[in-house]
Amino acid sequence: MTQLFMEPVQKFVTSAGRCIYTFPVLAFPSLVANIYVISDGGRVILVDCGSGMEQSNKDLLAGFTAIQETFGDPIGLADVDVIVITHGHMDHFGGLPFIRQHTGAPIGVHPLDRRVLSHYEERVVVAARQLETFLQRAGVSAESREAIMAMYLYAKGVYRSTPVQFSLEEEQAELVGVQPHHVPGHCPGQVCLQVDDILLTADHVLSRTTPHQAPESITNHMGLAHYLDSLARIERLEGVRLCLGGHEEPMADLPGRIQAIRQVHDSRLNRVLDICREPTSTADISRQLFGEVHSYHILLALEEAGAHVEYLYQRGELVAANLEEIEQEPNPVIRYQRV
Ligand SMILES: [Zn+2]
Ligand SMILES: [Zn+2]
Repeated sequence: MTQLFMEPVQKFVTSAGRCIYTFPVLAFPSLVANIYVISDGGRVILVDCGSGMEQSNKDLLAGFTAIQETFGDPIGLADVDVIVITHGHMDHFGGLPFIRQHTGAPIGVHPLDRRVLSHYEERVVVAARQLETFLQRAGVSAESREAIMAMYLYAKGVYRSTPVQFSLEEEQAELVGVQPHHVPGHCPGQVCLQVDDILLTADHVLSRTTPHQAPESITNHMGLAHYLDSLARIERLEGVRLCLGGHEEPMADLPGRIQAIRQVHDSRLNRVLDICREPTSTADISRQLFGEVHSYHILLALEEAGAHVEYLYQRGELVAANLEEIEQEPNPVIRYQRV
């Protein structure tokens, strides 16, 4: 197994004197996620809770112990007053059934991700259908589709629906104690949380990785267009001194990081246009963009390629080149060509 370097617990203090503790959990064997605990000496807010996998839960408990031992702040899971989930991805909310055994604190998430947490089984069945259609139209072979769907459904089998007590909307800053900013794109209900002069960017902006994109045709309010709009939104925020992401390291230069992420998408969009001088399926575009990838990365690459193709198609820079086929078949492979 890959040995990942994990930071110990860290503490940041906001301009208003609030403490933000953060520690990593191993959400999946090769994915470290950051947990945040905000304390003003009275109210304690827990932001995200890991994947719910055994190691992730252990790391979560160890993180609270480390806060006590390192900083002498006697906070445990039972002291949490509010639980805020930054978005509906498993590495951020999957630990909810586990922490429910330790605290009855109300759980909040943006309304667009609420049903993912509270009606998970229904959501998986419906999302799987959408995904299958996408894969078919992308030109993924039947055999490969079956393998991808099995992987998708296996990874989703760990969580059990957990009731959500409140919707995390921007006007509720006072109730929650932090200012949510809705930034759809990476996930429909993605929020950044502003705590005085520190912004928890969750998976909207990360220090090293360009956050994953998937097409809106699979899930509404995702897709590159929403994401780029949301980047501009966060760029306009004033008074942000430091950003802390849902993974990876703290970021001092938010505008610089946003610029770098935009450049990655710009060059990827140009590459897609280049590839589509000849009619090309999304699966072939994905192969040309990302080369040979394995296991879950096959799906991630296809979604990423799909998001870029969709963005260009929406803007009329690509057209479907095989109209006759599309007309005749129920779920045809679409071949895109640049205009
Ligand atoms: Zn995410
Ligand atoms: Zn994540």
